[in-house]
Amino acid sequence: MTLREALTRTLLLARDEVRDDVDDDVLLAALTATRVALVADATNLASHSAQTAFVTCAMLMARSGHQVYLLSPDPMLAGRQPPLASGQMLTELMRTGADLLPGVSFMTEYPSDEIDLVIALGSSEIPVRARRRARLNATPWAGSLLPDCNAGAWGGGEWPMGGMVAAALGATEAFKVAMKKLAHLAKNPSRMVTVFADTTALEFALAPAGTPCATQLGSFDCVSGGAIVNAILYALTRIPNVAGSARVIEPECSDLSNLNRYMLLLRSRLKSPKASDLAAICTAAGLSVEPIDERYDQDLAARIRFPTSVLVGVDDIPTRWLVQRAGPDWLGVGATTHWSAMSSFHEKGLGCAECLHPTDDPSDALIPTAAFVSFWAGLLTTAYFLRHLAENPASESEQQIYLTPFRAENVMRASVPLRNNCPSCVAVAA
Ligand SMILES: [Zn+2]
Repeated sequence: MTLREALTRTLLLARDEVRDDVDDDVLLAALTATRVALVADATNLASHSAQTAFVTCAMLMARSGHQVYLLSPDPMLAGRQPPLASGQMLTELMRTGADLLPGVSFMTEYPSDEIDLVIALGSSEIPVRARRRARLNATPWAGSLLPDCNAGAWGGGEWPMGGMVAAALGATEAFKVAMKKLAHLAKNPSRMVTVFADTTALEFALAPAGTPCATQLGSFDCVSGGAIVNAILYALTRIPNVAGSARVIEPECSDLSNLNRYMLLLRSRLKSPKASDLAAICTAAGLSVEPIDERYDQDLAARIRFPTSVLVGVDDIPTRWLVQRAGPDWLGVGATTHWSAMSSFHEKGLGCAECLHPTDDPSDALIPTAAFVSFWAGLLTTAYFLRHLAENPASESEQQIYLTPFRAENVMRASVPLRNNCPSCVAVAA
């Protein structure tokens, strides 16, 4: 069990950018030589939102193999943070960090020399030398990446969604550091200036300010227990006083190559059925989840009835059509392709999942992935779901979203036009 095996899919994604003759060891060295400190003081860490940002950013960076220094006090956790146990934040992060990628763990000592990047929460003082200093902040639904000079106190409270956006923005900047270490090997050097340039200031909102915060999730099904559903359940279990009952439909067991992006997966749990493992973690965190250790296919579709809401994270496009044809009232779909995350929602009168993706794209090749991309896809899908539950949905003109996190300022939101004679639309109407 090696770090290189665990990061297979992240290395494959990094290969999009470098010449074909570059060895995997060089790519691995760029990821693991990326040194980042995450800094927060007790005042800025007091809220559940801030603790969620800290924990999430730390784990996203660790799952990409970076060296992460956690420079913070060790407050009691204000809310649930699975796969961390309840208790003290830093203590539980250290314990969890030692159970992520083989050979990678968090550090709490101060780095003795200059590191690549320091990320501070809110107005926390920065006590280390780094080539770049950035800050994170949040409101209930939006996260911000800010320059060092913009050091306002942490703005989030209990609601954790904006904190998770901030975490994803921070982890994305850390990944850029790793990619810039490969600049001299780039296939297309100009992309280092256009795509991988630092983002100095950006606010990204999942929903308008004032959007109600739904905590009653009702009954819903998750088709797949993969990276996207991991991210969705990671986000939902962080909602204070969350209540709901879900089923996770997934036939496979986890393996080492999932650790680079499955937000709730621990190394000590590898080889367990994914659905059962997610059910155990989420149920312990207050969200009732039942496993269905089967593939969603024609046979299972004939045997089960979906509740009103279904969340889908499968790569397989015909499976999305099959779920759509079962006619759930509300369907959310999250996916990734290379560096980009996408999400959409589908309900009566709008373009369906097959209207959006009418052609299959079958491939047996290993799919390139990275932690922050999968997390964004799950977070965007969670936001659609929570806005639907709060009866404050995204508008039709924002029915799909396409985000390349490196350049989140260029996010694309659009409607999903109905297609004439779409087989899924015809099946649902029948
Ligand atoms: Zn359709």
